[in-house]
Amino acid sequence: MTTSSIRLKALEMAQQRAAVKVDLPSTKISDYFGSAVFGDKAMKAHLSKEAYNAIRAAREGKPIERHIADQIAAGMRQWSMNEGVTHYTHWFQPLTGATAEKHDAFFEPLSDTESIEKFSGNALVQQEPDASSFPNGGLRNTFEARGYTAWDPSSPVFIVDNKIGKTLCIPTIFVSYTGEALDYKAPLLKSLHVLEQSALDVCRIFDKSVAKVSTTLGIEQEYFLIDEALYNARPDLVITGRTLFGYSAAKGQQLEDHYFGSIPERIYAYMLDFETEALKLGIPLKTRHNEVAPGQFECAPNFEDVNLAVDHNQLLMDLMEKVARRHGLKVLFHEKPFAGINGSGKHNNWSMGTDTGVNLLSPGNTPSKNLQFLTFFINTIKAVHDYPDLLRASIASSSNEHRLGANEAPPSIISVFIGSQLSEVLSELETNTAKKNDNSKGQSILFPRIPEILLDNTDRNRTSPFAFTGNKFEFRAVGSTANSASPMTALNTIVANQLREFKAEFEAAVKGGMKKEEAIVSILRGYIKHSKRILFEGNGYGDEWKKEAEKRGLKNITEVPDAFEAYVEKGVLALFEKTGVLNEREMHARYEILLENFTKKVQIESRVIGDLANTHVIPAALSYQGELADTAKKLMDLGVGKDAYTVHLNTINEISSHVTQVKKLVLEMVDARKAANKIEDTEKKANAYCYKVKPYFAEIRYYADKLERIVANEQWPLPKYRELLFLK
Ligand code: ADP
Ligand code: MG
Repeated sequence: MTTSSIRLKALEMAQQRAAVKVDLPSTKISDYFGSAVFGDKAMKAHLSKEAYNAIRAAREGKPIERHIADQIAAGMRQWSMNEGVTHYTHWFQPLTGATAEKHDAFFEPLSDTESIEKFSGNALVQQEPDASSFPNGGLRNTFEARGYTAWDPSSPVFIVDNKIGKTLCIPTIFVSYTGEALDYKAPLLKSLHVLEQSALDVCRIFDKSVAKVSTTLGIEQEYFLIDEALYNARPDLVITGRTLFGYSAAKGQQLEDHYFGSIPERIYAYMLDFETEALKLGIPLKTRHNEVAPGQFECAPNFEDVNLAVDHNQLLMDLMEKVARRHGLKVLFHEKPFAGINGSGKHNNWSMGTDTGVNLLSPGNTPSKNLQFLTFFINTIKAVHDYPDLLRASIASSSNEHRLGANEAPPSIISVFIGSQLSEVLSELETNTAKKNDNSKGQSILFPRIPEILLDNTDRNRTSPFAFTGNKFEFRAVGSTANSASPMTALNTIVANQLREFKAEFEAAVKGGMKKEEAIVSILRGYIKHSKRILFEGNGYGDEWKKEAEKRGLKNITEVPDAFEAYVEKGVLALFEKTGVLNEREMHARYEILLENFTKKVQIESRVIGDLANTHVIPAALSYQGELADTAKKLMDLGVGKDAYTVHLNTINEISSHVTQVKKLVLEMVDARKAANKIEDTEKKANAYCYKVKPYFAEIRYYADKLERIVANEQWPLPKYRELLFLK
């Protein structure tokens, strides 16, 4: 088959595909929600009271004794074998970005003919995966190239059913033998611990009855869906997750008729299918809708504890990929699969709540609740103000960089949007113009009332990377492929640190004789003055913002290696060290790993661009050019006038000129790559890939896309944007 007929065949397949019939449970959702999870109900049925209590206590950080771990493991095995499970795996989140598993059977041979099913406490609690192939940034010496996974009892075990077999999955952290974190989860758990402790300390200034604070997260996930056959006919999508060539369809998203439009039947069947599987796994999916770009969709669960929300999002992405295959679809999580139209993000809705049922980022209706709200609200703003580069680093990736600052995506400048009403509240608080409100006890309260309409009237500024949305902050700059543990670890840590500082200042002020409210208000007033340049209410997509941000001294970091530098900046190293979240060695290791990942991704894209240019784009162009030459020659031979073949000759020349450019630029890019490959130093190498190799991508694409518009449609080898995006 010629390459162009691969495209045409794929188009035919895609057109013929109908919605797949989905086997849905006949009961209501509440009957099967969490049925594949060893949750409360299953635990009560399969564990002794002692073991059950031990798991619950472990969620609060208490260690589990070995003999209890044996009991728990036995209960898990019994439950999961009843469900048809044969294998178990430690499930972890290495810094490669994907989740990893290594399966072991429960089955244990006793003699050559006898065997039993067994699962010990040891096997539950700790495992040694063959870890030498996971990135470690030089943390593990080659002679000690081992790490281990350790059970995280705060995230329940679950059963993955891939329709062929079932596996019991145990959420774990992944650490080196010397104890350094090699994954996303270990530092996330530590950051949650410090944040919840420091938030509790601050809470208790207001309300002594609070005993626990939890951090909550709701992750909105955007994605594209395209037909699997068309996907397979695009080597760039298959290998890099995005299109490296392709002329934007004439009908892009200008009409915006896709947003909230009705969901096509085939897609609807897919959504029902993966949602059902997700609900069985206890992932509380609630919302689904079309997104702005054609072929783009979004789903969102109810918020949960951060650790669980992150695990669920990782699991959901795996699930969505698996289920898509059953529907002849391919789900694209890449932040920018198509140039010229919207990319995909993963909005991280973040807040904190108390065991007394108070959302700490929800404006209250009494003056004292308001002061508590303002305390958490303003401390968060100050934390972002003080560590914008760290937040920027936490969302940097080779793929997210194509999205930030492009069509309808937050800029790479970190700022905070709070809406006009809260802006007013803060400026009143800052300048102390508020009328003194009297509360029932007759004390004067020195801060403004928050209008009650606030909650119903949240401004919907969608252009901000970090926005307050009524009762939570929404970190919108996070990329759709990201593991949310990375931005959440950064956010938790800076806010934890900030709350500690606040508490210390508060105590000093009270010791110095200030009244409680006065002390709080005066500290917050100082914070507002200090941090207000990070607040921005205008259009984050506009160019004026770039100028304005520069005037304010806010950085616009647009390249990945520059963004990652924040991880090894002195202040950031000190922050992670003093909060105990990551030590200096771990930070340096992460920095190395992230840079290496970046280099590899750019290197792969560069190779694919070279290959596709040489083996797809240029041959198609030359073959069409040959046809034009034949026709022109025939016309000449007929003795017709020059007018008859001028178009042919002009087109032939045009093709030659574009082909020459593509050829030349590819050769130059290969040279740049070779030079970059000789560099040993990780940082310098990443910079060479970023600044010397990557700039060729857009240039080569420019000429290749011109050729796409010249070559006869049926001869073009790669499925076109309009074909990838508009199939229903
Ligand atoms: P939007 O208006 O942005 O579409 P929603 O109000 O539907 O958003 O919420 C988006 C996400 O924010 C959902 O996942 C939701 O569960 C989550 N969310 C709501 N309240 C909180 C909270 N207190 N903490 C964390 N996430 C929250
Ligand atoms: Mg939202």
